[in-house]
Amino acid sequence: MRDSLEEKLTNQCRKAIYKHPFWKLPITLYYMIAMSLIKLVRMLQSNAKRLASIVVLCVCYIFSCSFCAPVLVMTTVAIEETTVEDDAESDFYDTYGASILEEMSEESDESLEASEALLAESDGYLHEENIPTTDEQFSIDDLLSYVAEETDGATEETTDANETTEFHKDDWNLLLINKQHPIPEDYEFNLGVITGSFKCDERIIPDLLEMLKQAKEDGISLVICSPYRSFARQTELFERKISSYMKKGYSYLDAYKLSSQAVTIPGASEHQVGLAIDIYTDDYKVLDASFGDTEAGQWLKAHCAEYGFILRYPEGKESITGIEFEPWHFRFVGKAAAKIIMDEGITLEEFIESL
Ligand SMILES: [Zn+2]
Repeated sequence: MRDSLEEKLTNQCRKAIYKHPFWKLPITLYYMIAMSLIKLVRMLQSNAKRLASIVVLCVCYIFSCSFCAPVLVMTTVAIEETTVEDDAESDFYDTYGASILEEMSEESDESLEASEALLAESDGYLHEENIPTTDEQFSIDDLLSYVAEETDGATEETTDANETTEFHKDDWNLLLINKQHPIPEDYEFNLGVITGSFKCDERIIPDLLEMLKQAKEDGISLVICSPYRSFARQTELFERKISSYMKKGYSYLDAYKLSSQAVTIPGASEHQVGLAIDIYTDDYKVLDASFGDTEAGQWLKAHCAEYGFILRYPEGKESITGIEFEPWHFRFVGKAAAKIIMDEGITLEEFIESL
């Protein structure tokens, strides 16, 4: 078969050259190309299994080699994160991301000026939400009007966690999150809408609203300024803080160290699991240590435990929590645990240690 095909081509070309000597060159070229193709096809046919084996080995190598693994993993993670966040959340962060870019590039941006001014005032230790924007805060009136009907059904769900006097480190409300204890990878919870884009763990909403309502009855106007935030949002805040320190002349390592005392590192923030809320008041909209001296700060410290919340980063406990005094940051732990923690003046770290 092989001989006949190749011989046939050779004979045809010879005859053609004999008949048309002027076409000798193109016919020769045609002959060479045709012969090469025939040889190539025959080679592929005879080595088909061998070539298939090489292809399979290459594919296996690409999927298993250390250079490719991170790329594949990152792609998977990116896909998962995209599917987890809903549209509203994405819009929210897109908007926020744009504002950060503007801040980085335009010194005239109002919020940047506010940020720099506050940073200068506070000796470098400021919480991430020192620059709350008007659309990122809700007063008690807004909240109560939005979710008045929703609280009835959900109150019963939190009763067990609140009433229990037996504590376990695995209880969802006692989940310890700090630099040494990042959020477990398999941690799951349901977000509930407080109002608008404001969300948190749905199990704490009834008690949160009850606390705000009672404060209002006592003449204290509380305002939520930072609820749940995603990993992406936390990362943005952290990088922004590093950037602000570097602008002041700190090296990256020093800026990172200082930032980690003022902004919780991504993956270790209670805001990411929806169990922490930052609260201030209409009369004092700055998140600094002096908020603790305000009427609202004092009321929160005195009454938060009645609703299952604790002052998570108390003054004088920085060496244990690793975070500066934050009189505005309240963490839900359930009423029973909150009473013990606040009465004894200890931290969640110390409470968990004692279990
Ligand atoms: Zn906070």
